Amino acid sequence: MALLADYTTLGLGGPARTFVSAATEAELIAAIRSADAAREPVLIIGGGSNLVVSDEGFSGTVVHVSTRGRTVTETSEDAAEVTVAAGEDWDGVVAATVAEGLAGLETLSGIPGRAGATPIQNVGAYGREVAEVITQVRVYDRQEDQIQVFQNDRCSFAYRTSLFKAVGTRYVVLAVTFRLARQPMSMPVRYAELAGELGVTMGERAGTGEVRSAVLKIRARKGMVISPGDPDTRSAGSFFTNPVITAAEFSRVEATATARDAGPVPGYPAGDGLVKVPAAWLIERSGFAKGYGAPAPARVSSKHTLALTNANNATTADLLSLAREIVNGVQDAFGITLTPEPILVGVTL
Ligand SMILES: Cc1cc2nc3c(=O)[nH]c(=O)nc-3n(C[C@H](O)[C@H](O)[C@H](O)COP(=O)(O)OP(=O)(O)OC[C@H]3O[C@@H](n4cnc5c(N)ncnc54)[C@H](O)[C@@H]3O)c2cc1C
Repeated sequence: MALLADYTTLGLGGPARTFVSAATEAELIAAIRSADAAREPVLIIGGGSNLVVSDEGFSGTVVHVSTRGRTVTETSEDAAEVTVAAGEDWDGVVAATVAEGLAGLETLSGIPGRAGATPIQNVGAYGREVAEVITQVRVYDRQEDQIQVFQNDRCSFAYRTSLFKAVGTRYVVLAVTFRLARQPMSMPVRYAELAGELGVTMGERAGTGEVRSAVLKIRARKGMVISPGDPDTRSAGSFFTNPVITAAEFSRVEATATARDAGPVPGYPAGDGLVKVPAAWLIERSGFAKGYGAPAPARVSSKHTLALTNANNATTADLLSLAREIVNGVQDAFGITLTPEPILVGVTL
């Protein structure tokens, strides 16, 4: 019997009623078809790095996507399209493109999980997101029982979401195609912390290899690269998305921060007059410091306020109770409701 704790980076989750590992696209589609025909609930799992699974497990079929394959097509002198199977390790894909002299994925180094999950929540980091370089996503449509190809403009990509996440489990990602630039220099640096690490100014470029190394260094400092011996990395990455609020709400948060002597509120333009506020800042200013919760089994990472960790034999219930405490604390302090970033399976906040 497969225990889902063995397949999630949090190390949490009870047993799967049925567990199938699919090494080829044919096996993947066959496993989903047969579960659908039997009207079994299906959970698709890649690297398990964005999943919070109930202690009771999953009473249906869990399909573990382990398909492999990568092709590079030169589309012009200065660009190439890279198509990867859903089961490819994401950081392996990034490392290979950097090594091959292709630019566009370098800031997305060190993110755990598999390539097929990257379009689901439009994975992003250090000023870039996959939506900027994805040309198409090949999926198996469970409702229509057929393969479909979604061009980028049909994927409804937005901050940490997409059509695929919005509709739930209808589409199984089979392969993703990225258009990358054939050049030794990175895309312009858009993230101040990264620019600082590289010693460049915002908007400048650096070598793609240098950017990858700098990102991995910053991530390691924050416990955001999986390291088996480090309990701070037994997490699902950021547990909450950064709230995007109206200008009026932002003014209210600023007034509250002044009243609480919490310092200036960081805010970044998010289009349409909206402002993105770092969830980590809100959490810290609401009284949850790094390491909060220790010595309880589930606690805030000692390196990054946004990561909730299974530090020491926690259960999913422990983790969710910590998450609820933080949501309530931020709500009480600033009137903002945090939204979880990972997919919750069989549990709610
Ligand atoms: C230490 C750490 C750091 C992280 N840093 C970042 C970051 O910087 N930026 C960021 O965006 N995310 C980050 N994450 C979150 C996570 O790594 C990404 O969301 C990643 O893309 C999830 O991939 P996965 O294969 O592990 O997906 P899983 O966790 O296995 O699945 C996530 C969701 O996608 C679905 N899914 C998976 N594969 C498929 C498929 N082939 N077809 C259809 N549905 C599928 C699953 O059903 C589930 O709903 C981090 C996580 C950790 C643990």
